[in-house]
Amino acid sequence: MRKKIVAGNWKMNLTLAQGEQLINDILQAGLKLGEGQEVVVATPFPYLTKAKSLLKNYPGFFVAAQNCASEKSGAYTGEVSAEMLQSINVDYVILGHSERREYFQESNAILAKKVDQALAFGIKPIFCCGEPLNIREAGTQNAFVAKQLEESIFHLSAEEFKKIVIAYEPIWAIGTGLTASSAQAQDMHAFIRSQVAAKYGNEIALHTTILYGGSAKPGNAAELFACPDVDGGLIGGASLVAADFVSIIQKL
Ligand code: PGA
Repeated sequence: MRKKIVAGNWKMNLTLAQGEQLINDILQAGLKLGEGQEVVVATPFPYLTKAKSLLKNYPGFFVAAQNCASEKSGAYTGEVSAEMLQSINVDYVILGHSERREYFQESNAILAKKVDQALAFGIKPIFCCGEPLNIREAGTQNAFVAKQLEESIFHLSAEEFKKIVIAYEPIWAIGTGLTASSAQAQDMHAFIRSQVAAKYGNEIALHTTILYGGSAKPGNAAELFACPDVDGGLIGGASLVAADFVSIIQKL
């Protein structure tokens, strides 16, 4: 069937030594990943090569960047290109996280370019979408998320689209301790899958991995992951504590 993934988004946290310790503690747990299950750690840029080498002998463990540039190369001080990430064998890149959209003005159009860059250099995007609280309260979350998909990833060819992982992250649930109920998550995931089916057909929709993100933790992961259209999670805060992250992975 489709891949199931637990991805840890470290955001702007941890020193190199702390990150190394965290990865070693996760590996110490001796997790046995099932067929089609993956664990991804999205570290800050300076730690990617270290993370990659620590995970080298662990099948099913992958490394993600948290962003990449929308341009290929050139005079863009401070940016990191998809080609650079490819050159250090990064597997995935998180694109469109709501913090990037809000604090760094990343529009749907810019994200479409970032998605294109990532795919051009063989890096699989974990594309984040999700609505703010006022949109949820107005009940227009489906239209809001549909527009994000339409403007940032639905220009892709079917072959390209197959490499995309989608993460639904309702903004009101990120870092707030408020989690979407499993019914709210399932409804949105089913809606997203229906949009993918309408655009690319049922076969591709059935194989698209859709993660839930937003205050996922050991206590609610099992219920969320049990939803038929929830294929794992993108974990922020709880991914910084080895025991919590391991416990969430065990709920896959
Ligand atoms: P959180 O973050 O788990 O801390 O809510 C999730 C995310 O932002 O990816």
